[in-house]
Amino acid sequence: MTETAITLKTFFETARDGRLTAIKCGRCGNLEIPPKEFCDACGQRDWKSAPLSGEGVIASYTIIRVAPTKHAGDAPYAIAVVKLREGVSLLGRLVGIPLDKVSVGMLVRFRPLVIRNETAVGFGPA
Ligand SMILES: [Zn+2]
Repeated sequence: MTETAITLKTFFETARDGRLTAIKCGRCGNLEIPPKEFCDACGQRDWKSAPLSGEGVIASYTIIRVAPTKHAGDAPYAIAVVKLREGVSLLGRLVGIPLDKVSVGMLVRFRPLVIRNETAVGFGPA
């Protein structure tokens, strides 16, 4: 029996517990996060779960000053693309870092965010 790779649903369930998990292609070794149906690199569907350290650096970021209605009360906040140590990138909200201190290359660590009962990806100081 092969190990069942995580789905988008279990990705957010384990994220809520503070664990970040990618999927790794059993054919070509490509890492993807969050989970998707088919491998971008080889088109196969042969995923294994791959736990991640949750550590990475900010590759780029945007400060949201006018947020979508749902998050209006939260603005301003920063959304960053974080390149994780394992080589995959993930979009998340920055928490616990003053907006004027945010910079590309800054070391951050995954931190689950629960916003109105929905789990979201966050990154805080490493
Ligand atoms: Zn592949």
